[in-house]
Amino acid sequence: MKDPKILRDETIEPAGHFAAEIKKGQVLRIIDVEGQQVADLVTINAQEPGEKLSVMNTINLNKQVFPRVGYVLYSDEARAMMTIIEDTCGVHDMLAGACSGFTNEKRYGVKNTRNCRDNLAAALEPWGIAWKDVPFNMNVFMNCPIGNDGNWSIQAPRSKAGDHIDFRAEMDVIAAFSNCPQIYNACNAFHLKPLRAVIYEYRPY
Ligand SMILES: [Zn+2]
Repeated sequence: MKDPKILRDETIEPAGHFAAEIKKGQVLRIIDVEGQQVADLVTINAQEPGEKLSVMNTINLNKQVFPRVGYVLYSDEARAMMTIIEDTCGVHDMLAGACSGFTNEKRYGVKNTRNCRDNLAAALEPWGIAWKDVPFNMNVFMNCPIGNDGNWSIQAPRSKAGDHIDFRAEMDVIAAFSNCPQIYNACNAFHLKPLRAVIYEYRPY
């Protein structure tokens, strides 16, 4: 992108969260500052907050489980919300959902853990969106391969320091992400790191 107009540039501390209203045509760039750090991302229609990201519609309409350049995030009303226009990593996930206090207790026997589900609810609270109303999410930089027999697992991310992915808004959206606090599996390579969010005006070449 040549000399884009930067509207916001923010570092998100380990286990922190981010949310912003992004106008149609603007771009959200998420940067993996040190590498191997996952962001759990949701999108919501800023004009009609009842319309939200649908992971199911997104997989079905792209006919593809793994996000890549050109992949569109669709809403529960099958409308385009954001499109991936750049990606230096190439490995992301649509199936893992968000870690929660419930799944951490079920899988790892630990209580009162920081988690993406609570982070997303906190990030969206200023817009009046309740915990139960946070949609399922895309996992940026998360590496969950699917085996030939359909087995599924969480592996360490492939992202390297400085990798980024760009989402262009196709409608006015609220975009929120959790800087994933998961330390009980390989999701973040067992070490929590900062992320960076940049919002810029899209300028086609
Ligand atoms: Zn998480």
